Amino acid sequence: MSEIEYRSSGTPLESYELTRKDHRGQKESEEISEWVQRQVEEDVAKCRADPARAECRRQAFEDVARLMQSFEKRDHEIMRWRVRLYCGHIIETEAHYTYSDPVSAGAYSERCPECGRDSLTIVAFEPLGLRAEPPAPAGPPPPAPPKKPTRAELERRVRALEEENARLRSQTPAPQSVSRKP
Ligand SMILES: [Zn+2]
Repeated sequence: MSEIEYRSSGTPLESYELTRKDHRGQKESEEISEWVQRQVEEDVAKCRADPARAECRRQAFEDVARLMQSFEKRDHEIMRWRVRLYCGHIIETEAHYTYSDPVSAGAYSERCPECGRDSLTIVAFEPLGLRAEPPAPAGPPPPAPPKKPTRAELERRVRALEEENARLRSQTPAPQSVSRKP
């Protein structure tokens, strides 16, 4: 995971004076969403007139839905943002962690859960952090289980013990002590 520098724009929680750029951006956002809405309505009307087209459209939507599901990200890949919307409400939004800000992630026109207005532009934002900590990088490997001694090692050890025994025997004056357990 490469390091991404998360941007801030303004401070969402501080009082904010909307700029001319904000007003222009909001107007554009509304115009785009109206245009999209008109396209959808036209398309719906065409589909009503043409069942084959409607079926084709339904299939396309299903494909997209499946694709979206396959993109579902794990929590540590989701960045949380605090954003101030054009309407003045502060909300939390989320984006894939690879985006350096919520606007480039495509969250440029939000529906405000507070006032219900649609197509609201983001006028300030700051990163809050990932939804979950990334899994710890692979640490040191767990200690290997004690290795079974090889036959050669066992033989070496037996020989060493025999030598040790022989040495002890030679030092011990009484022969009966040989049977003594070490
Ligand atoms: Zn609002």
